[in-house]
Amino acid sequence: MKILILPGDGIGPEVVAVSASALETLNHRFALSLSLEEKEIGLASLSVCGSTLPDSVVKSAHSADGVILGPVSTEDYPSEDKGGLNPSAWFRKEFDLYANIRPSKVRSGVPALAADMDLVIVRENTEGFYADRNMVSGSGEFMPTEDVALAIGKATVKGCRRIAHAAFKLAGRRRKHVTAVHKANVLKHYSGMFLEQVKLVSKNYPEVSLDTVIVDAMAALLVRSPERFDVVVSTNMFGDILSDEAAELSGGLGIGASINAGEKHVIAQAVHGSAPDIAGRNIANPTGILYSTSMLLEHLGAKTSNNLLCEAGVYLANQVDALLAKTETRTVDLGGSVTTSDFGKALITSMKN
Ligand code: NAD
Repeated sequence: MKILILPGDGIGPEVVAVSASALETLNHRFALSLSLEEKEIGLASLSVCGSTLPDSVVKSAHSADGVILGPVSTEDYPSEDKGGLNPSAWFRKEFDLYANIRPSKVRSGVPALAADMDLVIVRENTEGFYADRNMVSGSGEFMPTEDVALAIGKATVKGCRRIAHAAFKLAGRRRKHVTAVHKANVLKHYSGMFLEQVKLVSKNYPEVSLDTVIVDAMAALLVRSPERFDVVVSTNMFGDILSDEAAELSGGLGIGASINAGEKHVIAQAVHGSAPDIAGRNIANPTGILYSTSMLLEHLGAKTSNNLLCEAGVYLANQVDALLAKTETRTVDLGGSVTTSDFGKALITSMKN
């Protein structure tokens, strides 16, 4: 099984290096037979070969079973015709990675704004108001005149149904409750279609209960009573925003993890961006990408009925949990003082024992 590792920009190389060495250690410990390949993307590859997503990387990703994708500094990229492709958006669109799975939970010992929370946000990843991925060609955002800006929000029956199925299947393995977050009171067609399809799909899962919440109320309820949510399903932009909020409530953006999954491909990606304000200082929290790597292993294990991969994923998350439980092995964003690389060393030491 091949795993492609793409460090990305900003803090990407610092945090992804920790995940890469964790994977190598797990590979030996669990005899996973993983082959790990690392390639440059982003500003590093732009300066060498003129593209933030070189063809060689795309080719390698096609043949990989899973990808670890570091954050990318898309705000600093030139236009596409000058080589500035957003790798994150490109993979989501071209690999049809329709399910962005973003768990947030309060972890033992980690200072968190929420007292109790263990939820997963299942975000539709290929449609909605994301102009860079919701059209076959052209942009979903345009300006007919200098003082008018328009953005298209795309919802399809297929897109709504498949993300709903992903949410209900996941809830069936958890506390068996789905909350659909929408704005169908205003966006009657776009958000209304999503809501209607979620309700229809729910009939296939009688063991899972469903409630529905309007997105503005959801922003408040997440703060007020996050413990009431199990699996939250939503369209692209609402899911994007709410998952940052949930990550922050559970301890901070630095621990937010995710996978982007389609029928064929899966990509592990931390919730945070490239954090240029702290890049190169060896202080970034690597746990977002570590938890994402754990999710990737579990996803691949379930897909290929390989228990060892599932065990390795659970083991990695438990080891990270154990380090986060102690102030002395937390990075500065979580009230500790350990550096990114020292967190990595502590993790490898604990995994080798
Ligand atoms: P950001 O997530 O990079 O940073 C927001 C804040 O959180 C910053 O103060 C940062 O220091 C902090 N932070 C983020 N990750 C952290 C970590 N692992 N450890 C400790 N602190 C952390 O968001 P931004 O500043 O809005 O965006 C910066 C760049 O990242 C932009 O170019 C943006 O386009 C890009 N971005 C990329 C992705 C992605 O690759 N998936 C996602 C979001 C933003």
